[in-house]
Amino acid sequence: MELCDLSVPELAGMLRKREISSREITESVFKRIDEKEETINAFITTTRETARKQADQADSRFRDVKKVPLLNGIPVAIKDILCTQGIKTTCGSNILNNYIPTYNATAVEKVLKDGVVLIGKTNMDEFGMGSSTENSIIGPTRNPVNTECVAGGSSGGSAAAVAAGETVLALGTDTGGSIRLPSAYCGVVGIKPTYGRVSRYGLISYASSLDQIGALGRTVEDCAILLNCICGHDRLDTTSVKVKKPDFSRSLKKGIKGIKIGLPKEYFIEGLDSQVKNQIMMAVNLLAENGAEITEISLPHARYAISSYYLIATAEASSNLARYDGVKYGFRSDDNISDSVKMYEATRSEGFGSEVKRRIMLGTYVLSAGYYDAYYLKAQEARSLIKQDFDEAFKGVDCMITPVSPCLPFKLGEKMADPLQMYLVDIYTVSLNLSGLPGMSINCGNVDGLPVGLQIIGKTFDEEMVLRVGHAYETIAGR
Ligand code: GLN
Repeated sequence: MELCDLSVPELAGMLRKREISSREITESVFKRIDEKEETINAFITTTRETARKQADQADSRFRDVKKVPLLNGIPVAIKDILCTQGIKTTCGSNILNNYIPTYNATAVEKVLKDGVVLIGKTNMDEFGMGSSTENSIIGPTRNPVNTECVAGGSSGGSAAAVAAGETVLALGTDTGGSIRLPSAYCGVVGIKPTYGRVSRYGLISYASSLDQIGALGRTVEDCAILLNCICGHDRLDTTSVKVKKPDFSRSLKKGIKGIKIGLPKEYFIEGLDSQVKNQIMMAVNLLAENGAEITEISLPHARYAISSYYLIATAEASSNLARYDGVKYGFRSDDNISDSVKMYEATRSEGFGSEVKRRIMLGTYVLSAGYYDAYYLKAQEARSLIKQDFDEAFKGVDCMITPVSPCLPFKLGEKMADPLQMYLVDIYTVSLNLSGLPGMSINCGNVDGLPVGLQIIGKTFDEEMVLRVGHAYETIAGR
């Protein structure tokens, strides 16, 4: 164990006793990056120089300031979809390969204000579109647990960096599972908060009604600490909600006696790998033995989740991505600069990767006159039914447990030729984005040496319950 492998409370404790410095933690992280990065490819950009400066500033704060935030001096990596002032932000795309934001995303601003050390910007599927981090301009991220496998996506760089000790914490984003899936595949913890809990200001939009920023760490407690820092109302994001901001770390230790956990029967049917299912059921039994009440529930419209999600997400993406035209941001093609329409075409054709183009085309199609009612509107109706299912089921339970992925981490390249196979990996995660609900992936053991993720779903704005059940499981299972 090196410093880069320790938890936030452990590091914060040692920092406060002056047993270690933030500079030492930072060097330990960069040493690990030097050892692993050639294979893992978790980072698009590392920010060594500013990190060292931030670490020294954090160390001086321990000397000069009476009460320093818990995150002071702790390394954090940031998904390359969040704007960072003065630091290149590519979104994994050629079209933003030279984009240097002039401002910070609110979530980034908040972690910096708490004195973190920013390690770098992590790899991702282009614009968040993918489930394996194979759709990136810099190539795929590999899974640190088994480097022949994908890290999951689209926040694969963040999850892999946390798993490999290339950072302590990371920020990711989740439009349809992009925090939970890579966390599951890399064996770390990742939480997608309720829509509106964390400001999306400075998050480069993929599908605005589904996008949400969240936290990745190696323990539930680490994620709770990071979530404490990034959530809260922000007048710069009109969808950010004014709600009470609880102390997420405090609710962790309340235990699970008498907590009602629902298992949606539609999530445990054909298509779910039997080994994954066994592992989830073992975890559920453990929770039951320790006082949780388990009941079967039903989410009858679950089967419409994938199709509604891929219609709504692509529709929103086609509109959001219209801004990349070679004029306002980033890359511009050298071809045909005298003819602006040809210049737009060449820029978009050279700038976007093939998955992004597929989604723009699909999204434009479903929004076009004549198809709007049949596809987009239908998908929105299904979305309401999916949300109603959750509202109904939550009348009888405090939270739900499901798998995160129907399969184990798959091999690099395995699903790249068949987009539908890749989309189906999101079957258990997208409904939460469609409904705005909070969800977390925690590790519940390994099968054939590969991590299995368990998803805990909470009621709207009840991240406390999600974290509490997750922490209880970690404690009971000794993880
Ligand atoms: N895999 C899903 C997609 O490609 C989810 C991505 C995400 O959450 N950003 O749309």
